[in-house]
Amino acid sequence: MVSHNPDQAARATHSDYGGLTLQFHEVRARARRQEMVPLSEQLYTDILETIADQLVILTPDGIVLAISQRLLEDAHLRREEVVGNPFTETPWWSYAPPVQQQLRAAIEQASRREIVHFETRIRPQEGWYLDLAVTMTPHLNADRQVEYLIYTGLDITARKRAEEGLRVLVDAIPQFVWMRRPDGSSEYANQRWRDYTNMTAEQAQGNGWLQAIHPDDQQRILEVWQSAVQAGGPYEAELRLRHGTTGGYRWFLARGVPFKDAQGTILKWFGTNTDIEEKKQAELQLKTSEQNFRTLAEMVPQLVWTMWPDGRLDYTNQRYRDVTLTNLTLEGDDIWRQFVHPEDIERTLALRHQLLRTGNIYENEYRLKDGRTGEYRWYLTRALPVRDETGQIIKWFGTGTDIDDQKRIEEALRQSREQANALMNSSIIGIFVGEKEQIVDANDTFLRMTGYTREDLREGRMNWMQMTSPEYLARTQQAEQELDAQQSLTPYEKEYVCKDGSRLPVLVGGVLLQHHSFQVITFVLDNSARKELEQRKDAFISMASHELRNPLTALKLQTSLLHQQLVKQSLQAPALSSMQTQINKLIRLVEDLLDVSKIQAGKLGYRQERVDLDALLHEVADTMQQIEATHTIVVRGATSCSLVGDKDRLGQVFTNLLSNAIKYSPHARTIEMDLSASDEAVTIRVQDHGLGIPREKRDKIFDRFYRVADPRQKAIPGLGVGLYIVSEIVKHHRGTITVESEPGKGSTFQVMLPQKRT
Ligand code: ADP
Repeated sequence: MVSHNPDQAARATHSDYGGLTLQFHEVRARARRQEMVPLSEQLYTDILETIADQLVILTPDGIVLAISQRLLEDAHLRREEVVGNPFTETPWWSYAPPVQQQLRAAIEQASRREIVHFETRIRPQEGWYLDLAVTMTPHLNADRQVEYLIYTGLDITARKRAEEGLRVLVDAIPQFVWMRRPDGSSEYANQRWRDYTNMTAEQAQGNGWLQAIHPDDQQRILEVWQSAVQAGGPYEAELRLRHGTTGGYRWFLARGVPFKDAQGTILKWFGTNTDIEEKKQAELQLKTSEQNFRTLAEMVPQLVWTMWPDGRLDYTNQRYRDVTLTNLTLEGDDIWRQFVHPEDIERTLALRHQLLRTGNIYENEYRLKDGRTGEYRWYLTRALPVRDETGQIIKWFGTGTDIDDQKRIEEALRQSREQANALMNSSIIGIFVGEKEQIVDANDTFLRMTGYTREDLREGRMNWMQMTSPEYLARTQQAEQELDAQQSLTPYEKEYVCKDGSRLPVLVGGVLLQHHSFQVITFVLDNSARKELEQRKDAFISMASHELRNPLTALKLQTSLLHQQLVKQSLQAPALSSMQTQINKLIRLVEDLLDVSKIQAGKLGYRQERVDLDALLHEVADTMQQIEATHTIVVRGATSCSLVGDKDRLGQVFTNLLSNAIKYSPHARTIEMDLSASDEAVTIRVQDHGLGIPREKRDKIFDRFYRVADPRQKAIPGLGVGLYIVSEIVKHHRGTITVESEPGKGSTFQVMLPQKRT
């Protein structure tokens, strides 16, 4: 119910519905009014009958004084049944106590000089209801006392029905719908809104609706709403509304528009709240995924960018900005022109324009200038279009990877490959790659050397083990072991059997390929020229020593005959003795050379006889002592021990060692020899106190023609074959020879011979 001051009503009373205006003027004189009552009453009645649906004049107590005809007709009542009785007791009102009470309250209020408006529903007849907009106006007399009450009722049934229909409709809308008064207070919120918030229509009234909004949003929403109300313009805001039962919040988009009359006065606000939770969530997810993308983009060691379909940059990571020194100020082709290497720019721009035109995946390599250092580095750029569901490109995602180091490595690799190829294809050295015993690749030189063809290689007909000459198998296996242990092979000499069966002397070295542990790359040098030279040298030595031996033997014979004749004649010829000594030395040298030739040819003969080593040692020492008076030869630890072998050859071993010991210890006085024996072996040691042998030379002194190049040693005559012959003889007797030495202090040669020869 709405009420207001009757003083205002005295000037003008408005009915909100239908624009009805009743004016009661207080300017008439009392006497005239008395006369005019019957007339005016009739006039009022007539007027009111025509303008109001219902009109009743009541005493301030609510007794009916006058009543409009329509009202009586509606209820099938006669005037006298109603006039003079309390209006509240009439059938229109008495059917329901709350309605009756409503009227009673209005009468009471009006009798206190207030104009009362209210809407109600009366029942003129059984089963017929009417919705009314009632106005109860007190009429005051000159003393400002309430003289009577004017009751007007406007039939608003049709409007009410329409409103109800509208409400049903509005309640059925799958959105929240609300209406607010021009001042912004809530008037109505639809069923859905009430169901969701669990608030009653009364709770939502006024500013109650704000309670359904998330506390964090309330202040903002209130401000937006109030400014919309003040401006009279549309209202739009996103807010979270609390679900009444679960207490959870969902996001809504609230929209409101003012409904204005022809004069532009706001009559009402209509508004809706649309659930945008899913959209919000999606937005949130997008934001998170965008954030994730950016975090990732900042972390990766690449330049990362996103670009709009028209080629404008959307985002670049820090690295990108560091390198190009830009904050997206440069756009499109400019950025490229400024930073891409002049040699790469045209190709890059062409590719870029093609990419924007076709939407194909983009990949390009170019040099990009680092804005900080001015240095160009190679980058690999890739860009991928991201499309929406219709296939339209919405964005490009791109990365630039610094491939400069990779490029350099590639270049270095290319160069080293070129070098390797040059080496492979040079005709100097034969190269093959072996997997186990199979040759899987070989250069032309190796094929030419061995007489095999590429076809043979492809067909797997090349097996280096099978190509190795049988007498080099042992040496080759030893080399294999070395390769296993050290991953590389010290070059060694061997022979391959060529395709045509001929022998090829070679020098072979090899290395295990690091990344293919089963593959070995082998370098093969044709050694045949050297070998041939060696053979010629050997042949010459053999021939020369043969040629020299016969005249020498003849010379020796003649000098000894001469010596005998002179002895017979009791003549002394010291020169002849020294001649004989020199001839003997010469003969020994020549015989040594001959022995070497025989060893080379495998023709050095050995006898098999029992040898008393102890006796042999003493014999050799005695003979030597007679010739060489400079040193004292001490033989120690004589044990009677014997073995089967060649006595002369073994004698040759000891003679050689003793003569070396004397030769290479010019300032020493003694040489020690000792003999010791165990059940298995006999050990002979020859020790001097002479020059000694440097460590690195100790293995080589047993090689043919090897002599230590030290000037003091070189001054001592020799051919470098003595130890070679010694080691060959010891080897033949299945023994070993080793040397211990300290330069400047002396050397000890030790020969170990097994007791039982098999
Ligand atoms: P050579 O005829 O030169 O003595 P050998 O084969 O007997 O040839 O010896 C080879 C080399 O070994 C010698 O040239 C010498 O340098 C070194 N050598 C051999 N025996 C001794 C030793 N007892 N003391 C020092 N050096 C030795």
